Amino acid sequence: MTATSPPPADPPAVGGPPPEPMDLEAFRRNGHAAIDWIADHLATLEDRPVWSGVEPGEVRAGLPAHAPRDPEPFEDWLADLDEVVVPGLTQWQHPGWMAYFPANSSPASILGELVAAGMGVQGMLWSTSPAVTEVESTVLDWMVEELGLPASWRVDTGPGGGVIQSSASDATHTALVVARHRATQAGAAAEDCVAYASNQAHSSIEKGARVAGIGHVRLVEVDDAFALRQAALAAAVAADLEAGRTPVFVCSAVGTTGTTAVDPVRAIAEIARRHGMWHHVDAAYAGTAMLCGELRHHQDGLDLVDSYVTNAHKWLWTNFDCSLFWVADRGPLVDTLSIVPPYLRNAASESGAVVDYRDWHVPLGRRFRALKLWWVLRSFGVDGLRGRIRDHLDWAHDLADRLDADARFRVIAPTPFGLVSVCHADPGRNDDFLATVTAARDLGLAASEVDGQRFLRISIGATWTRREHVEQVWELLDRAA
Ligand SMILES: *Cc1c(COP(=O)(O)O)cnc(C)c1O
Repeated sequence: MTATSPPPADPPAVGGPPPEPMDLEAFRRNGHAAIDWIADHLATLEDRPVWSGVEPGEVRAGLPAHAPRDPEPFEDWLADLDEVVVPGLTQWQHPGWMAYFPANSSPASILGELVAAGMGVQGMLWSTSPAVTEVESTVLDWMVEELGLPASWRVDTGPGGGVIQSSASDATHTALVVARHRATQAGAAAEDCVAYASNQAHSSIEKGARVAGIGHVRLVEVDDAFALRQAALAAAVAADLEAGRTPVFVCSAVGTTGTTAVDPVRAIAEIARRHGMWHHVDAAYAGTAMLCGELRHHQDGLDLVDSYVTNAHKWLWTNFDCSLFWVADRGPLVDTLSIVPPYLRNAASESGAVVDYRDWHVPLGRRFRALKLWWVLRSFGVDGLRGRIRDHLDWAHDLADRLDADARFRVIAPTPFGLVSVCHADPGRNDDFLATVTAARDLGLAASEVDGQRFLRISIGATWTRREHVEQVWELLDRAA
């Protein structure tokens, strides 16, 4: 912690008029300078280390102890970015970024975000800014087509519909709340309700079950490829029914966070249907890759599920936050979340002819997030996005094959998408190997652990990554082995 000084005393209440907002000519000038700053930042990323080297408290020590009392010149704002902020950034947009999952941004997305902020509108209801709702519904309907999702999920024709949420976690929490509400309305006690997922499922399932007040979570066994075992799920459900509990929710993962394992969606859907459970599909990372038709067999069975989430803010060049959530039937969602205070009543809502997205998630207020996704689609074209994803898939498969063919390495899980999961074949050398490769400064690589096995996750899919960066990874691994 830095030493603190007492805040300066309040100034006397007399004085000149308070400053106006930045005048629009200055805004124009400063805005151009800010875009220049971003372009320079992106153009020079490769010369910077991926990982920030700051010590705890170092960024804070570079900031004033108190908020600015008087206006400060814009040049100083930018100078502090370079001096104080950038050294404290982990460079997720670096071309060598292969840690965790990608969190892609792109120039079109940045501009869409900026323009949305410039409009500064709230789209909680159709009537509070009709274009926010209608652009969002349209873009999500387009994505139903392009991702090969069931046509009934379109908001214009189907009983279902799509909505942008802040994160996959929020979307999953929402699905859990709907499942809980449906069950308790039918007479179940929340503390007897049970949610199921594989033991490789994302932590948002457990967190969301807590948020929703669902009494029990069962993390079901997986097979050798880390996919949920259908028989283990059926047995867990049977045991809970036997004990008088109420199964209400099951999550299938299409691309787990650990190793991108794929659960058998259709087989799980059959169990879900038999017991009236809400079936949610978490495809946060891998779902956007379904732009490529050859991958869609991984999510066969979507015609039988209740909800689905994928993150445009991971592998679709759209900066955080932009999580795409669909329901097969919007009725239960809106029934669960719609509460209408008198000040939000309006003729359009009461006509039933419009979508009011405030009823589709927890927050009331909502930004114009569809704009950046629309602009990403316009910038690359969906075929352009497909091509880039196919490049990533090729590079990942080539790397996985090369590692697989080399006796020094062991690929520990299948590579259905852009993630390669690998360890040193000699258990005695694995820790040193991982320490060496994750210490690289110009490549962002991170280790993880599954079933007691530590391994390297090489996640290929960042915006500016080229094949040569994947080649650099190979060279690093080759040297470190
Ligand atoms: C990344 C991820 C999440 C969480 O995504 P957020 O949008 O950050 O909440 C959930 N599930 C899976 C499978 C993920 O890969």
